[in-house]
Order: sequence, then C-alpha cells, then structure tokens
Amino acid sequence: MPNAKAYSAASATSPLASTTIARRDPTADDVAIEILFCGICHSDLHQVRDEWKDAMPTVYPCVPGHEIVGRVTKVGPAVKKFKVGDLAAVGCMVDSDGTCPECKAGQEQFCPNFTLTYNFPDKHLGGVTYGGYSDSIVVKEHFVLRVPANLDLAGTAPLLCAGITTYSPLRHWGVTKGKKVGVVGLGGLGHMGVKFAHALGAHTVVFTTSPSKKEDALRLGADEVVLSKDANEMAKHAGSFDFILDAVAAQHDINVYINMLARDGNITMVGAPDKPLPIGVFGLLFRRRSFSGSLIGGIAETQEMLDFCSEHNIVADVEVIPIQKVNEAYERLVKSDVKYRFSIDMASLKAE
Ligand code: NAP
Ligand code: ZN
Repeated sequence: MPNAKAYSAASATSPLASTTIARRDPTADDVAIEILFCGICHSDLHQVRDEWKDAMPTVYPCVPGHEIVGRVTKVGPAVKKFKVGDLAAVGCMVDSDGTCPECKAGQEQFCPNFTLTYNFPDKHLGGVTYGGYSDSIVVKEHFVLRVPANLDLAGTAPLLCAGITTYSPLRHWGVTKGKKVGVVGLGGLGHMGVKFAHALGAHTVVFTTSPSKKEDALRLGADEVVLSKDANEMAKHAGSFDFILDAVAAQHDINVYINMLARDGNITMVGAPDKPLPIGVFGLLFRRRSFSGSLIGGIAETQEMLDFCSEHNIVADVEVIPIQKVNEAYERLVKSDVKYRFSIDMASLKAE
C-alpha cells in the first residue's frame, strides 16, 4: 500500500502538522491522482476544530481538504474517462451506493450511503477517509471530474466545493437575467456566488460586514454592495429580492434577509454555522417566502459547473500558500481575512 505525505490535526485544539498516511492501490475503477492544489474551505476549519460535533463529530487524526486538483498517475483497468497524465479534480464526495433514487437522479450528495472525502468511514482501508491536504489521493472514477484546459489550476481547486455549492442553488432557484439576487457574506463561497449570479445575468447585490471588501465586490461582478451593519442602506432593499444566497459561516440575524424577499422569494442557506438560527415565521407567512438549504451538488452538475467556468473564464480569486502556512491561514479565515480563497500549493509538501 503506497504511503502519502499529508497534514493532519491530532485533536480539536491541535495545529495541523506533517504526517504520513496510507492510500490504497487503485482498484479496477479507481484513479490515482498526484495533488497539485487544494483549496481551504471554512468547512475544513469547522471539522478540524470539531465545531460540528453534534451533527458530524470529527474522528482524529483528521486530514481535511475537499477542493482537489491534480494529475492522474495511475488508473485501474476499468477506468474509461482518464489516462495517466490527465488533469483531474475531486470535490467533497468520493463514493455513494450508486443504486438509490438520489444516485439514479444524479444527486449523489443526497445519497444516504455516500462517502465524503474526509472524516467518513473508509470502505477500503478501515478508519476514516483522508482528504486533500496530501500529495496524493485514490478515488473511484465516477467521483473524479475533468478539468478544462483553459483554467488556472490554483483557482480551479476551490470550484470543487465553493464553486458547486453556490452554482447548484442559483440554478435550482432559476436565477437568470431580470432577477434580483442577494449574496450574503463575501468569503470563499460568497465570492463564487457573486461571479455566478453575474454570469447568469442577474442584478447582483452583495451584503458584507467588511467595508474593505466593497471595491472588490464590484470588481467580482456585483451591481450594488450593502454594508449589512448600516440599517439605512439595508432598509432600501426591503421586499425586493427574488433570491438570496446566504454563505455566512457564523451566527447572524437571518430575519433581516427574509424580510428583504419579494413575494415567493427564497433565501437559501449554504453557510453552516454550528448553532441554530432563530427564524421569525411571520417573515415567511407574509409574501409566501421560503427558507431552504443546499448541500454541494451532484457529480454531473459539478462537471457542468466546471464547463460553465471554462466557457465564462471563471476561477476563484486565490491566495496561494505553502502547506506550512496552513495554521496561519486558519486564523485569518476566522477573521474573514482572505481574498477570497486560500489554495495550497502541494509542491510545498515535498519539503516535509
Ligand atoms: P469564509 O471564506 O470564511 O466566508 C464566510 C464569510 O461570512 C466571511 O468572509 C464574512 O463575509 C462572513 N461572516 C463571517 N462572520 C460573520 C458574522 N459573524 N456575521 C456576518 N457575516 C460573517 O467561509 P466559506 O469557506 O465561504 O464557507 C462559508 C460557510 O459555508 C461555512 O460555514 C462552510 O462550512 C459552509 N459550507 C457549506 C457547504 C454546503 O454544501 N452547504 C459547502 C461548503 C461550505 P463578509 O466579510 O463579507 O461579511
Ligand atoms: Zn467545502
């Protein structure tokens, strides 16, 4: 069994540190990938620090990372879509049962028997799956995506989670030209939401707590930017949105956004704060508004999103870092100090 270099956390309070993990030899339908870049998602931080202990407790050691781009080094004999040397990408899932109605509908993210890229029971090696803060990974072909040749690789990695997680609900809720769309929180997910809403032709409004991000929001494609702490600016948008995407990682008042929706408007939560968010139901009753959630996206839709990015020349705005700076990056993520995604250059693992 080949070994891989990786970074793992030993407990909820330990920094990430260099380690060695086992990867399996590719089975018939597996693709082995040398990882070139891996994005840092706020979910990695929630999971490493066991902030989701009620819903998804963390098993240690934990190797996070589900925004993976790399090059194929080996393929099993039944693999059809990939050959050695091809670019390839992996997101949040590495397996599912393939037989349930969700899998048959191409919605593997809702399969009751799916396997997430890290911190999920590993069917092959026992223990839990280990993610992309590593120099290699072995994944079933169905869960490996094709990377369009024209996209920057460091900026492509975050598309595998931040990209699909924002693209999927925007498409599901029918965001197109003529719709007014809000994006709450200009972080990794939020900035992708802005790029997609703009590319889909919507009038896009960003809500941010950070005055320093105003200029960037316009550059990323927003038509308007609102400082959410400014009650006067907020009041101007009451009852006016068709759709709002909330990508905030922490506690915040969701009711102010519900009240900004027009009749039949929807607000979808993709952010995953650890504590419940109180909802005033009257905001929903009036104007028949709805409040939903959304989880990443299916494999076919993830490929569609990558192809959409290729066509529209969209990648994440990234700050490329060596793996040795990962703990510093986590501290900055907590302070909303990243423009707009960290992408780890895995060549830096060679020094470990
Ligand atoms: P991120 O880069 O840290 O961005 C979060 C943004 O939320 C910040 O940049 C900040 O934007 C805003 N924010 C932070 N604290 C806030 C507060 N107290 N009040 C209001 N706004 C605040 O995180 P991310 O990687 O985009 O992830 C966002 C959330 O989505 C996380 O909870 C993550 O776990 C979750 N997630 C969900 C899925 C899914 O499938 N549903 C997939 C991936 C991630 P401003 O500075 O603009 O205010
Ligand atoms: Zn993620």
